[in-house]
Amino acid sequence: MSFKSLFAAAGIAACLVAGATHATEMKSKNANPLLAPWTGPYGGVPPFDQAKVEHLKPALEAGMAENLAEVDRIAANPEPATFENTIAALERTGRALDRVGTIYGIYTSTLNDDAVQAVEREMEPQLAAFNDQITQNEALFKRIEAVYAAREKSGLTPEQQRLTWLYYTNFVRAGAKLDADAKRQLTEINQKLAALYTQFSQNVLADENEGQLVITDAADLAGLPESVRAGAAQIAESRGKKGQWVIANTRSSVEPFLTYSDRRDLREKVWRMFVSRGDNGGATDNNAIVSEILQLRAQRAKLLGYETHAHWRLENAMAKNPERAMKLMEAVWTPAVARVKEEVADMQAIADKEGAGLEIEPWDYRYYAEKVRKAKYDLDETEITPYMQLENLREGMFYMAKELFGFHFKPVDAAKGVSVYHPDVRVWEVNDAAGQLVGLWYFDPYARKGKRSGAWMSPYRTQERFDGDVRTIVSNNANFVKGQPGEPVLVSWKDAEVLFHEFGHALHGLSSNVNYPSVSGTRVARDYVEFPSQVLEHWLPTPEILDQYALHYQTGKPIPKELVEKIERADKFNQGFDTVEFLSSALIDMKLHLAGGRPIDPDKFERETLAALGMPSEIVMRHRTPQFMHVFAGDGYSAGYYSYLWSDTLTADAWEAFTEAGGPWDKAVAKRMRDHVFSVGNTIDPADGYRAFRGRDAGIDALMRKRGFPVPETAKK
Ligand SMILES: [Zn+2]
Repeated sequence: MSFKSLFAAAGIAACLVAGATHATEMKSKNANPLLAPWTGPYGGVPPFDQAKVEHLKPALEAGMAENLAEVDRIAANPEPATFENTIAALERTGRALDRVGTIYGIYTSTLNDDAVQAVEREMEPQLAAFNDQITQNEALFKRIEAVYAAREKSGLTPEQQRLTWLYYTNFVRAGAKLDADAKRQLTEINQKLAALYTQFSQNVLADENEGQLVITDAADLAGLPESVRAGAAQIAESRGKKGQWVIANTRSSVEPFLTYSDRRDLREKVWRMFVSRGDNGGATDNNAIVSEILQLRAQRAKLLGYETHAHWRLENAMAKNPERAMKLMEAVWTPAVARVKEEVADMQAIADKEGAGLEIEPWDYRYYAEKVRKAKYDLDETEITPYMQLENLREGMFYMAKELFGFHFKPVDAAKGVSVYHPDVRVWEVNDAAGQLVGLWYFDPYARKGKRSGAWMSPYRTQERFDGDVRTIVSNNANFVKGQPGEPVLVSWKDAEVLFHEFGHALHGLSSNVNYPSVSGTRVARDYVEFPSQVLEHWLPTPEILDQYALHYQTGKPIPKELVEKIERADKFNQGFDTVEFLSSALIDMKLHLAGGRPIDPDKFERETLAALGMPSEIVMRHRTPQFMHVFAGDGYSAGYYSYLWSDTLTADAWEAFTEAGGPWDKAVAKRMRDHVFSVGNTIDPADGYRAFRGRDAGIDALMRKRGFPVPETAKK
């Protein structure tokens, strides 16, 4: 069933719950192609060749209407409530809406133009109201409650019991037990929030699209490597400024400029532009929106009987409550800040030696960090890039999937009738060692206008088995700059890590081996979902991957051993910066949502809270409040940005399971990881799954070792 807000723990993309292949056939002659069951090979594939923007709204409306009718039939069933006639029946509903939601999610994230934005503005509040209509259906909730009360005595499997628990808690958490008046207030709040989230993200997008630094004199490019210059030239050309250079107001454009530009004045200009997104006054300023969102969230938490929004959000997370999340963040914060002091001292020494006559400011950090890296580790990022060919790295990921998961990838035959939504998208079929189909993998690697920045995975259809075998369809998306035809696309080391990370989410989806769609694949707790993806980043630097796949784009020779050793030695470099940049955002997120309903001026709150925390003045939050999309473009990561650190605690500890055994390719450890982590979805408590894999809980010690911070005495075993 299609509960965007209830089961939206996919964790990666703002995507409606993905669908399956067997809903009622559309009877109408002019059937909207987005509503019809998917046809074609592989149990049906999305009808991208027929989809148009104008189909979205009517299809969403028809999908919601159909889903409401299905739910009403379940609620009105005169038979006593059973798992089969209530929970399993609900799992069968909303299939048309799932299919539409998949296409809607792809349009909003990768084909987003004015027409799509208009649909979003109109439909988001309606989708929020639709969710509330289902969770506020009293007759339906009574049946769920009855199945829940009898769950231990009615012969249910553990998976069925957990699914029942999930429905029950999600309904309660969405207000199913409130009286009619409170339910009305809740619906109003949810619709207001949905509209504000859309406005917030469209404002950030507008500032990212409009802000730019135009360079007309080649002398102003001083310090920039050839690849950065070429990228800036290409952006200029796409903005009608052929022959000039443009630094766009996006992370992928700004960060390389801050790393390499010798022009301190321009670095400051670009930095100020980037950190001011959503904070410029005028029509796209997000401060008032943030205040209103925080007030509404606090009101909603109170209505639902929780102390704060953070308490409400974390109840079903692995952390369980804000206190445990805060405890982890605080334990890492102090050593990270101490490390920043050392990093700044190293940078200041270089600046002084050069006679720069400056004190390190935030727009200097990346620039001088790069100089320290060269001086300390003799490592130059531009030496690595020629070995990082996108297509070779993709082959390396396939090798990893074969060795660890037994998966074989092969390109989908063009004659098979699998359509794509953009010519850049390619599709692979995935089979297991026995040659059985596992699913499909769609790959959309290149940046283009209307595609949101960053990289992500989204499921188009989740694996399930309770009503017949449904194979999953997953996708990976990124924003690499497409090269000239015939030329390889080269990526940075960091980008290569991101590739492996997102592919980890895809393998999490592909490994799913469960019965019911609501607990399938990546639909796990928010602070657990990053663990399977983060852990696979560790396979990129293995000799097996680098020797075979990190080949120089001109000579074809593998990356030299000495260079790999330098990369390994520099492994913990700049961890102070990375950790503080991330943690300051995560702490502000949590503290904003622990502050309750008091009126908040975001800029002031940010300034005062950071001062109290002892934020180093040389660093700015990775996401400042008025541009914090994770937190204010939806509920998804609100009071949840800490999840990346929480998951990394598991990641670091899990990696040590391999290094303690036979190394990265140890078959027995890989099998345990598949059996207890990757394949189980949300059919078990994540803490139990982790324990089954590792034989114990994860402590903080492996995380501290991974980041090169001192291991606290209390964590030593
Ligand atoms: Zn991720």
